[in-house]
Amino acid sequence: MSDDVHEIYAIRYGHHDRKASENFIGGDPHDVLQPLDFYVWAIVGPKGVIVLDTGFDAAMGKKRQRELIKPVGDGLKAIGIDPAAVETVIVSHMHYDHIGNYDLFPHARYHLQDCEMAYATGRCMCHAALRAPFEPDDVVAMVRKVFAGRVAFHDGEDEIVPGVTVHHIGGHSKGLQSVRVKTRRGHVVLAADAAHLYAHLTSGRIFPITYNVAEVVEGYERLGRLASSPAHVVPGHDPLVLARYPAAKPGLEGWVVRLDAEPKA
Ligand SMILES: [Zn+2]
Ligand SMILES: [Zn+2]
Repeated sequence: MSDDVHEIYAIRYGHHDRKASENFIGGDPHDVLQPLDFYVWAIVGPKGVIVLDTGFDAAMGKKRQRELIKPVGDGLKAIGIDPAAVETVIVSHMHYDHIGNYDLFPHARYHLQDCEMAYATGRCMCHAALRAPFEPDDVVAMVRKVFAGRVAFHDGEDEIVPGVTVHHIGGHSKGLQSVRVKTRRGHVVLAADAAHLYAHLTSGRIFPITYNVAEVVEGYERLGRLASSPAHVVPGHDPLVLARYPAAKPGLEGWVVRLDAEPKA
């Protein structure tokens, strides 16, 4: 393995059945179900394992009425990753489904955009409409990590290790960052919530939870420029990801897939 080429695993941990109309500003003309899946991602390279996002746990799933399918730690262990040994976690943004399980990575340093922490702890949280996807305990847990010397802040674009860079996109949350990873098939972009579903990218429509609509649609174009092709952009909540990519190994179908592998035809 060349020293900047990485493997990527998408690990599904949760699920939420919902109507298509709930996934787009302005609704959707089709009265069909369009569920969301919940993922964390493991990026494995010569400098070790980087985990993108930490998911939510059973208690939060119950509180938010989202189904926890398999705990995040179980998914990582299924591909041989010991969470206690992980040293690097990238946080795409601070919504409840991306920063839970605070104690799962006791030795990790967390990488976060400056403006996401400012957003999640500042005046915008005075407004119910803006704070809805945030959980105060999650935010406090991240503040505690800052004081413990376990957070690295980024402002815009930065390199985490050779071959892995973060890119501030904003839009869905003020400090949302996506991650670009060099792999054997080219540059794959883990959008996280810069694009929830493939349908958002292909139709230019917008998920209802949004800080800034202009940044969302500009973000779609940015993701496309960062990736080697449109097929190299991986949305953050689409069940189709599990269908399009091969299982990490036999027995993990529908749970863990390889994103550095060519998608199925
Ligand atoms: Zn989000
Ligand atoms: Zn999300």
